[in-house]
Amino acid sequence: MSAPLLRVEDLAVHFKAGGGLGRKAKLVRAVNGVSFELAAGETLGLVGESGCGKSTLGRALLHLGAITDGRVYFDGMDVGGADAGGIARLHRETAMIFQDPYNALNPRMNIGNAIAEVLRVHKKVPPAEIKARVAELMQLVGLSPDLADRRPAALSGGQCQRAGIARALAINPKLIIADECVAALDVSIQAQIINLLIELKSRMNLALIFIAHDLGVVRRLCDRVIVMYLGRIVEEGLTEDVFGNPQHPYTRALMRAIPEIDPDRGLPDDPLGGEPPSPLDIPAGCAFHPRCPAVMPVCRTGPAPATRFVNNCHVACHLYQDQGSTDPQTREKIHA
Ligand code: SF4
Repeated sequence: MSAPLLRVEDLAVHFKAGGGLGRKAKLVRAVNGVSFELAAGETLGLVGESGCGKSTLGRALLHLGAITDGRVYFDGMDVGGADAGGIARLHRETAMIFQDPYNALNPRMNIGNAIAEVLRVHKKVPPAEIKARVAELMQLVGLSPDLADRRPAALSGGQCQRAGIARALAINPKLIIADECVAALDVSIQAQIINLLIELKSRMNLALIFIAHDLGVVRRLCDRVIVMYLGRIVEEGLTEDVFGNPQHPYTRALMRAIPEIDPDRGLPDDPLGGEPPSPLDIPAGCAFHPRCPAVMPVCRTGPAPATRFVNNCHVACHLYQDQGSTDPQTREKIHA
């Protein structure tokens, strides 16, 4: 088996927030002991409510945010321990697409120059070929090269997001992390951008991490899904398994909150009731226990539950003792 493109080992990202005016800063434990692998050409969805740590995780993977503990290996390179040359290589071979297509582009630069800038900085093509390559990239993302001299303010949100994707593709990346990249767009434009990403990933053998609120989009686009809750992975598996037969009570609640009639709906603000999760105050034991319909005494204390392999998914929950088995009474509770 070939080595994974990305390997994440027990990653933690903690930082201080707030403070000032006599108040003490609080420790945000955004990512806590996350481990997973991503193969070249694979598409992974990262889902969970706001504050679950998925965006912080995405930034840490690309060295855009500090790592507190653990390791990230990109194509064999230790990202946290990389020197300037290693970081430059990381930025040559990976790219991020952001949520707000307008903010991601320089408002004073036309989009042709914004794409050309990436080609120049990373020396991707000889200077004489930059103009032709810009036109090629624009066509690749479905933008007419005639728009090259327009600034972002003169384009629609969908056109700006396409320009952002063209900038990301300009470096021929091995990995793209798309952080809520369609959330700010109209539904019909979202569909166009998703179809574009589906086409590009198969055409260019791109590895893609798709951070999203929108479970319908993740189901359509991703090979595998990771569900996060308060900085930890609670369930991971192939998309068909996680959507078809979710195991963790939190994943089940998320899935139940998607009406069959409208699978493209995003996560509701509070799918479960109870206190919304806060990375400033993570409950002991299983962090999900204050909201879990199947909570047991063991869930309230001690370390977070270990991950077990259950019905093709990796699940962190005390309900599961060994592969594929669940106590019948507790199964009734989580299916209720
Ligand atoms: Fe619920 Fe306990 Fe499982 Fe956490 S470990 S999800 S509280 S049953």
